[in-house]
Amino acid sequence: MEILKSYSALKQERAAITGKTAFVPTMGALHDGHLALVKEAKKYADNVIVSIFVNPTQFGKNEDFGKYPRNIESDIAKLTPHPFPPPQGGRVREGADFLYLPQIEDIYPDGEKISVKAGKNAEGLDGDFRTGHFDGVCTVVSILFDQVQPDFAIFGEKDYQQLMVIREMCEQQTETSELKTKSRSQFTVHSSPTIIGVPTLREADGLAMSSRNVYLSAEERKLAPMIYKELCVVRDALRVDNKAISKAQDALTQHGFKLQYLEQRWNRLLIAAYLGNTRLIDNIALD
Ligand code: AMP
Repeated sequence: MEILKSYSALKQERAAITGKTAFVPTMGALHDGHLALVKEAKKYADNVIVSIFVNPTQFGKNEDFGKYPRNIESDIAKLTPHPFPPPQGGRVREGADFLYLPQIEDIYPDGEKISVKAGKNAEGLDGDFRTGHFDGVCTVVSILFDQVQPDFAIFGEKDYQQLMVIREMCEQQTETSELKTKSRSQFTVHSSPTIIGVPTLREADGLAMSSRNVYLSAEERKLAPMIYKELCVVRDALRVDNKAISKAQDALTQHGFKLQYLEQRWNRLLIAAYLGNTRLIDNIALD
């Protein structure tokens, strides 16, 4: 795996790549959910590029940018392909071909002035509770797409609204391109990649894997799978019980969750709740 620590290093390598390229953008602190995206990427392309960049513009003022888990050595080990046969106790892992680790100046050479505005899918749900979050996501993702020029880009269904926002951004590529060229003339605009969604990977007890799960205390960690359990209860009861959502809200509140939303959209059930200081999100398909 080639590690590319600047945009100029990426640019040089990218020019030499032939064949299809699949891209997996992440913020690091990698877990098996991220690795499932890398595995999926391999199905689409000969070259898999993973990026790790904790993007400041998608964090609100009072959010966890400063303490977001960063563990680059362990991330590199997880992305490095395992040889065959794998090490004892290890699994065969194809890994990534390139790991892009941009510095802040590679992404925002002019400071954080530029912004790509997210579309309608950013309204409601997280959009109501994380002001500017999806604009930050669209900004960093479009800059990364411009730099990496992938044929495919792989995102997790874990962040379902994000997946919908990015799909919308790519569909409205012309409009977005105009915005980008206005604000960022030094970047040529490339065609949008095909966006691939990957189902959420869960711990054995149902908790959706997340880099933020390390924030949970032992007690909170035991309680956290209730989010997924309640989603399943509501999904199964919804057709026969129109109070299913409010019953789940009550059950979660009684157990100490501070619910932000539990709503139906895109034929899914989506939830965000605080458990102590940790914000958890999850969602499931409705049929
Ligand atoms: P993050 O590093 O949290 O920004 O996530 C990078 C990508 O991994 C995003 O597309 C996420 O949706 C995806 N992802 C995070 N957790 C999971 C999970 N448990 N299962 C599948 N994909 C995930």
